[in-house]
Amino acid sequence: MKDKETEVLLLLLSDNHGQSLPPTLEELILMSHTHPTPLEGPQQLGTLTPTQLLTGAASETPGILIHAGDLTRWGSRKNLREFAENLGKYKNLHKIVIAGNHDFCFQKHPEESRRILSDAGIIYLEDEAIELYGIKFYGIPWTPQFGNWAFMGTENFLAHRWWSVPIGTDVLISHGPPRGILDLTQDGDHAGSISHRHVVRSIRPKLNVFGHIHETYGHERHFGTDYINACLVNFQYEMVNKPVIYNLEVTCKY
Ligand SMILES: [Zn+2]
Repeated sequence: MKDKETEVLLLLLSDNHGQSLPPTLEELILMSHTHPTPLEGPQQLGTLTPTQLLTGAASETPGILIHAGDLTRWGSRKNLREFAENLGKYKNLHKIVIAGNHDFCFQKHPEESRRILSDAGIIYLEDEAIELYGIKFYGIPWTPQFGNWAFMGTENFLAHRWWSVPIGTDVLISHGPPRGILDLTQDGDHAGSISHRHVVRSIRPKLNVFGHIHETYGHERHFGTDYINACLVNFQYEMVNKPVIYNLEVTCKY
């Protein structure tokens, strides 16, 4: 076995809330590529162009689509089926998704909801890890209690979930942000979880992608970890933001 440095292209998105994504991968990537965004940071992280994903380079540059939750508007199975049908069409990519606080279907009908996604070739992570191309992913849907939504809990409860994230995780997919990072609501409150913050500071993944706080789409980097809020919708639930392209350098065994 030898080590080989390679790149994996991640397409990051979150919080479409039941609104349709473009029906083809080409359109989704064009949406990301051609529309300038006021937040330059995330798109400048990459060095490969998205078109490489769609051409011959695709076989050498694997692509993984990651959705950080709030797939649905109110958590219905009908909405989830539409999402799965929509996302299942992106054949060239692996697809990893987690639930958000709107996605009640995963708590009310867990088996059926998981099956809807797996039948469409979509990987669902709920307090679970998966490894692809040597990259260790972990997905966690929980956010601090706010009203009566899915996958919420007190900080005490959340701490148990957060401290279950394995050491060595490369890409942490969470629905919510950590406290103090891209988590400022329009009311001026920091809505992120404190235990989440402690865990990422301790584990130091390469990337933590999340959504949840629609007002703070963007990128920050702290102590070697990239934090990306990839919300597609704004506070008014309008689809105004673009998916984020992120190139992750990895060492594969072959
Ligand atoms: Zn949302």
